[in-house]
Amino acid sequence: MDIKKAAKKAVKSKAKNTIVGIKKGDKKGGKKGLILGVVLLLIIGVGGFFAFQAGLLDGLFDGDETAPAITLMPTPPPAEAPPMELPDGDLIVTFINVGQGDAILIRDGNSAVLIDAGDQRPGTAPIILEYLENAGVTTLNYIVGTHPHADHIGSFATIINSENVTVEAVVKPDQPHTTQVYNRFLTAIEDNNVRIVLAERGERIQTGSIDIMIVAPGPRDVPNRNLNNTSVVLHLTHGVNTFLFTGDAEVPSEQNMVTSGLDLSADIMQAGHHGSRTSSSVALVDAVNPSVIAISVGAGNKYGHPHPCVMERFEQIDAQIFRTDELGHLVFVSNGQDVQLPDGTYLRG
Ligand SMILES: [Zn+2]
Repeated sequence: MDIKKAAKKAVKSKAKNTIVGIKKGDKKGGKKGLILGVVLLLIIGVGGFFAFQAGLLDGLFDGDETAPAITLMPTPPPAEAPPMELPDGDLIVTFINVGQGDAILIRDGNSAVLIDAGDQRPGTAPIILEYLENAGVTTLNYIVGTHPHADHIGSFATIINSENVTVEAVVKPDQPHTTQVYNRFLTAIEDNNVRIVLAERGERIQTGSIDIMIVAPGPRDVPNRNLNNTSVVLHLTHGVNTFLFTGDAEVPSEQNMVTSGLDLSADIMQAGHHGSRTSSSVALVDAVNPSVIAISVGAGNKYGHPHPCVMERFEQIDAQIFRTDELGHLVFVSNGQDVQLPDGTYLRG
């Protein structure tokens, strides 16, 4: 038996154990297809890796002077968008990798909500539109412009005006702003007759099985000279799985959330303001008590996000941390009981 076969066999037997591990405790079942797909990818990926290590693929890389030096996954490729037809009861949350900015898609088999749309650079909208297309999303039941900064609402005008997507309603804070990017956003909303919902703490966004509570802004947060503190912060519940999406809310807004009396606890928390030290205060992190942190942040950004002191705070509570600058799109799959994390492991409900 050659090295390649031996490697594949080793991977296969390991993969079989993984199936057993995954299936155990998965009461709902019906996820066989997805699991098999993941296992196949593992086999191909790890098998290829061993083959590469064993020099079996050298021929493929010979004779091309222009090919870049081969390094092992310096920036992992973005995860493929799973298809729109999801197993019944599944809900997928994707932090789309838009560099320094936010764009988060929440969808079940029929409904979709997009929180923010990255910045206004020409390359950003195509990333989001391609993800929506791959996922088979043609209607966004809600979009949420968390606050008027360009790294959050920058590409919304292009998406709202796109012929490939219908946007039904937009949730935004009741906060005026005057930049060109923001005016384009408002014009696109008006031109396309998109319904406007002004975000208010305690209101819900519900579509299909997607059930979101607005936890900020509250009455003391808007209007505000610091636009970050007008951020729409959202708490998503799916079965026993919970997520908190924080926009760029800073400590004053976080304090208002904590004292609001709302249940902020969440399995998965987005680090506020791209991991800036202006956010993710001890009080909020205590109230949320997350097991997993997601950070939407650009590689080598000029702001120094995420800040080391915030990372230390997350490490102190033993949270698992996933970052778009390291992993590309971050995909979380919830079946209402367990959440499959971007690294393929499971957070048990
Ligand atoms: Zn931002």
